[in-house]
Amino acid sequence: MNRPQPPRVEPGKTPGAPPSDAIVLFDGTQAALSNWEPVSEKRKGDWVVKDGALQCTPGAGYIQTKEKFGDCQLHIEWAAPTPVHGDGQGRGNSGIFLMGMTEVQVLDNYDNPTYADGFAGSVYGVMPPMANPLRKPGEWQSYDIIFRRPIIKDGKVIDPGAQTVIINGVVVQDNTPIEGGGGHKSRSNPLRPFPETGPLQLQDHGNPVRFRNIWYRNLRKRPADGGTDGQLSPEATTAKRLEIAGQLVKNAATKSGKDQLLLLLESLTYQPDATVTSLIDEVGTSWLSEINATPAAKIQSRKGEVMQVNNAVQYLVKHKCMAPGTSLQTGVSAIVKANGWDKKK
Ligand code: MG
Repeated sequence: MNRPQPPRVEPGKTPGAPPSDAIVLFDGTQAALSNWEPVSEKRKGDWVVKDGALQCTPGAGYIQTKEKFGDCQLHIEWAAPTPVHGDGQGRGNSGIFLMGMTEVQVLDNYDNPTYADGFAGSVYGVMPPMANPLRKPGEWQSYDIIFRRPIIKDGKVIDPGAQTVIINGVVVQDNTPIEGGGGHKSRSNPLRPFPETGPLQLQDHGNPVRFRNIWYRNLRKRPADGGTDGQLSPEATTAKRLEIAGQLVKNAATKSGKDQLLLLLESLTYQPDATVTSLIDEVGTSWLSEINATPAAKIQSRKGEVMQVNNAVQYLVKHKCMAPGTSLQTGVSAIVKANGWDKKK
């Protein structure tokens, strides 16, 4: 319960719509074109916005986002041109280059075979998709990609990174490690170092493929990347422990006897405190004398609370949250022993 709560994200109103923390790269408007720039100076024509879609103009070259980012959840939709022209790699070919480095293939593979590692949803040249869930050309296809960049430090691969790809709701890449390839027949290349961020690029492969609804979300940093996996920082942990200890002591003040004692003891697991320790001494002494004054015939009815206090004290001493040999420890263990409650049945 002390771990930080996950941040609230308002989901998109419809499946595929950007959630509240998404960075929208293309929303179908002409204005959104300003989020993009051509990759090449030498080009014939430019990508255009037509009917709410970002469309490749053959000869325009790759287009890329001005925004640079690394690990992400990317949503992107595309449609192959109709009427259908060409076959194999020549039909509805484009590509999604994460950080401009590794391609998830876009290809009209509806009823159009090609080499497996060049299929729609392949990590191009590296890993074929596990299935072909494409819709007909002209229909919108959705890609959801979870991308983790490789982390290489001093020439050592700390984490090769991975890509998960879901096409039209069907998983086609499941945490596929990023390899050195990604070009035609170039799988055996060594893994190149990736920068921290890079642009998203869309490929011009000579076909007027259309794209729409493009957005991404940053992912939580991995420990290999200086992240904490949802844990608090050491400083925040110290502050949180103090806060919890303070709350327990405050609650203890509204109780008495055993209940007060247990809350005070619990606070020591979060923060040692001399004032609390002497308060435990005081409350413990009066609780012990009350237990010790219990008539022998009724002592059995106090066993539960005595064992609770005894266990708490043992735990605190064992984990060095409390000094051994306090009058509370000595007193409570004497009661336990005198009644034979320490003997296993
Ligand atoms: Mg391609």
